[in-house]
Amino acid sequence: MIPFLDLKSINANYRDELIEACARVIDSGWYINGKEVAAFEKEFSAYCGSEHCIGVANGLDALTLTLRAWKELGRLKEWDEVIVPANTYIASVLAITENRLTPVFVEPNELTYNICPKNTEAAVSRKTRAILPVHLYGQLADMPTIMEIAEQHKLLVLEDAAQAHGASLNGRKAGSWGHAAGFSFYPGKNLGALGDAGAVITRDETLSQTIRTLGNYGSHKKYENQYRGVNSRLDEMQAALLRVKLDHLDEETQRRRHIALSYAKRIRTQKIMQPVDCNTTMESIKNHVFHLYVVRTKQRDALQQHLQKLGVQSMIHYPTPPHHQKAYECWKQKSHPLTEAIHDQVLSLPINPFMSNKEIDSVIYAVNSFFEK
Ligand SMILES: *Cc1c(COP(=O)(O)O)cnc(C)c1O
Repeated sequence: MIPFLDLKSINANYRDELIEACARVIDSGWYINGKEVAAFEKEFSAYCGSEHCIGVANGLDALTLTLRAWKELGRLKEWDEVIVPANTYIASVLAITENRLTPVFVEPNELTYNICPKNTEAAVSRKTRAILPVHLYGQLADMPTIMEIAEQHKLLVLEDAAQAHGASLNGRKAGSWGHAAGFSFYPGKNLGALGDAGAVITRDETLSQTIRTLGNYGSHKKYENQYRGVNSRLDEMQAALLRVKLDHLDEETQRRRHIALSYAKRIRTQKIMQPVDCNTTMESIKNHVFHLYVVRTKQRDALQQHLQKLGVQSMIHYPTPPHHQKAYECWKQKSHPLTEAIHDQVLSLPINPFMSNKEIDSVIYAVNSFFEK
């Protein structure tokens, strides 16, 4: 069986370095807010080409705390509207509703699955105060256009970069475009910890300090509490492990792109939509880090069963859009037809950076054989 994602085999490549990092933390006797977190924050903000990085407990908190900080700073207020793609992972939406802000869903661009600038512009109302673009599946949203719209209407932009560590456009990386960006280091993400972890990236020093305070019980100084905060911190152990993984991220991304190009060139059927075209070159896909390799077909369920029979595990990202989740019964009547069609038709193929060439061949063979039947 070719597993969808084999975290054990990914992390096994760095076993010695990871163990050394753990030992360093154990022997330091310091487990929260120490040298490893400070060093990782510096290294990751430099990697993203930004200034401040605030380690938090997970990606959802990175988004939630940023919106909360904007509220505390008076830049957002309750029930302001935040434009968000309808086809995203639920966390992008939870961060908005948790802050008693109003999500306004827009349909994506059909080729990239990312937020459509035209629809974004059309969704701006008198109450709109922010846009939350998601770099879905690892591909940067059209940030130059989104930032233009934001500037024109004086909107805040929070990038959900949880799937896009290192994706770049015109030399600018994910996380360096908006006023702030949330990253997740969930183990299965391209930069994955060995537990939960997340971070916010920003150039805004006031915002950075406010997020750090909010994530530390609302305290900027021991035993003085400015806000009713939460406990959401990146810990020393995860930070030390992430420093090891960050050193290897670009190599892994190149390998992901290599696998993606093999799929694009060798999956020979017009019956599925692929994320890249077969004429694409390495140079032209720097905006994509292939967190997922997502194909789209009306025969999705049958294809998935066929792959399973041939020993290829695939996954669906995601089966149900946020507006049709039980958690949001209030939106049951809402309809976003393109988003709903995408959820019915997408399938993610395995794209582990340490897949062997033989495994890549097997995935391609399995997909092609379904359509040649
Ligand atoms: C994973 C993910 C998140 C949430 O990150 P966690 O660390 O799991 O909380 C948010 N948005 C998107 C798009 C994600 O893929």
